[in-house]
Amino acid sequence: MEKRKTEIATNSSTPVSAGPAIAENPAKIGCCTHQYHHKHKYFGEKTELFFALLAGIFLAAGFTTTFFLAAEASVILYLISYFFGGYFTAIESVQGIRNGKFEIDFLMLAAAIGAAFIGQWGEGALLLFLFSLGHSLEHFAMDKAKKSIQALAGVAPKTALLKQGSSASEVPIEQLVPGDVIIVKPHSKIAADGIIISGSSAVNEAPVTGESIPADKKPYPQKPDVEQHAHLPKEHKVYAGTINGAGNLEVAVTKVAADSTIARLVALVNEAQTQKSSTQNFITKVEKYYVPAVLILVVCLLFAFLVKDEAFNKSLYRAITVLVAASPCALAISTPSAVLSGVARAARGSVLIKGGKPLEALGNIDAIAFDKTGTLTTGKPSLTNIISVDGFDESNLLKVVLAVESLSDHPIAKSVSDALIQKGIESEARATNVLAVPGQGVTATFQSKEVIIGNRALLHSRGVFISNEMEARLSGLEASGNTAMLVAQNNTLIGIITVMDTPRADAKQTIQSLKNMGLKKLIMLSGDNQKVADAIAAETGITHAIGNLFPEQKLEIIEKMQADGSRLAMVGDGVNDAPAMARSAVGIAMGAAGSDVALETADVALMADKLSNLPFVIGLSKKAKSIIRQNLFISLGMVAVLVPLTLLDIAHIGPAVIGHEGSTIVVVFNALRLLVYK
Ligand code: ADP
Ligand code: MG
Repeated sequence: MEKRKTEIATNSSTPVSAGPAIAENPAKIGCCTHQYHHKHKYFGEKTELFFALLAGIFLAAGFTTTFFLAAEASVILYLISYFFGGYFTAIESVQGIRNGKFEIDFLMLAAAIGAAFIGQWGEGALLLFLFSLGHSLEHFAMDKAKKSIQALAGVAPKTALLKQGSSASEVPIEQLVPGDVIIVKPHSKIAADGIIISGSSAVNEAPVTGESIPADKKPYPQKPDVEQHAHLPKEHKVYAGTINGAGNLEVAVTKVAADSTIARLVALVNEAQTQKSSTQNFITKVEKYYVPAVLILVVCLLFAFLVKDEAFNKSLYRAITVLVAASPCALAISTPSAVLSGVARAARGSVLIKGGKPLEALGNIDAIAFDKTGTLTTGKPSLTNIISVDGFDESNLLKVVLAVESLSDHPIAKSVSDALIQKGIESEARATNVLAVPGQGVTATFQSKEVIIGNRALLHSRGVFISNEMEARLSGLEASGNTAMLVAQNNTLIGIITVMDTPRADAKQTIQSLKNMGLKKLIMLSGDNQKVADAIAAETGITHAIGNLFPEQKLEIIEKMQADGSRLAMVGDGVNDAPAMARSAVGIAMGAAGSDVALETADVALMADKLSNLPFVIGLSKKAKSIIRQNLFISLGMVAVLVPLTLLDIAHIGPAVIGHEGSTIVVVFNALRLLVYK
């Protein structure tokens, strides 16, 4: 009970261990590269909004007094309004100029001062009022998106119950080191990534993977090697931030707090906010020319009185109005706000999107390539046949296989070794020199003999002889959907083990949803034989399957498809598919919670080992893409309308300010719709 209380108390405090990156690095957004800290001095977070509202009140008061009192009285009120409306704008302008940057804040301030100069106090105050109000609403909106990421950082508890001999004491999670043993009480949060060494429980992993069905966990039978964390079966592993069920657990810590899956997810999401999308890069380039062009135009307009028969004040007024109308505030914030909201929404759905680039790219794809084993299939195949060749002793064969495959990362290898352990096979000795041949198999030394386990291609390439009789038998097994693994010892075939993998339960439904979203080309790339690939394709609805591929050939196919104009995403487990994922427009890794490699290398990582998150994240990206388009249309459209109107003296400062600030706010709130996607 004690423990629960502390947890709840600590969880509600805002700055969290994995979170400071957010607080210290407010994303630099658009034209308004604001630093947040100095705003919190007076009335906390709302200072900016308060000041804006005060500016509004004094503006209204100033305007009202013009009807009753002397002009001086209203000027005083307007001046106060200027102060509140311009306070933060001025601070930011000064900071901007110190950093050698002319930003919109400066332009707005200049416009307001210009307005005062020609006696248009009211309009100048209106400009500063709306500009500061717009800013505070913008920040409010952006904070909303950031808070949903911060919530993620608050998932892990702050303290852990560290076991020391027969007693236990509560320590901050930062003090835990790999190898420590922590006690996890029933129904409490797990404090660290680790391996269960005693106790069983159903763990709710939703905070990390989004999977709501609790996962059954049991102790690892041997003394765990904490270095092996990534290679252990999921049923022994737990993650910081997940919630223990009814059992009492003892967990050997495998990661320091800063390296836990959830801490890395948060760090990557934070990084993602700063990764620019292609639209953003484009806008940045345009702005480089646009902003100086506007300034030149405005300076020219100042001298309109030389060619046009008008007073200087009139020219100045027009120049100020055009300046406001042409400022690309809405344009600058249109994409970052959508990216931030999209990344935040995905993170809440346990999907990591690493920034604007993959978000936009994913919204653009028209084809998906899937890996087979472990992606479309469960990757937990059942053992179907054990054949020893030429009278080789079967139990010896199985010992060799277990000794080697228990040290391989491949999903098939894991299932085979699990099945053999279930059968009661034990191998006293461990294999050495275990070397994975990606997409083909594995080689090793066991009891001073060379062992090769893998597909035909691997054995052929190592010169192992396969008799015609064996070939025929193999083909027969493959035709019925088996994946065969051939075992050779000192270059002689000693046995064949076959397994059969089944499609994931959600594969068919997912493929159908993707087709419904308009994705026509859904292909499968597999290192397994063509017959098995075809069988799985037929069962899942994949449109085209290519088997017998080496990893390099997968790359070639991806390159060729992209050269032919496909906008391709590659979905894999992120471990042995990393190169193919890196080469495609968007690399999507599944089950990233269990794999550091997947989390680091993928552009998009589905934390849960669940295909059905794929339509969600693609749908979200498509939505983000259309919102970005709408935002560009709104922001550019407003500039296109306002600039001619102000140039021709049709629109005055008031409408220019309202149009300019209005479009900025519309754009931000439009982007926020992504936060509530689906
Ligand atoms: P997929 O493309 O379907 O995910 P991979 O490229 O990972 O398949 O593997 C292709 C084939 O290589 C497997 O079907 C299997 O026959 C063989 N193979 C790969 N790794 C191993 C291993 N550790 N042990 C035995 N066979 C393996
Ligand atoms: Mg694979």
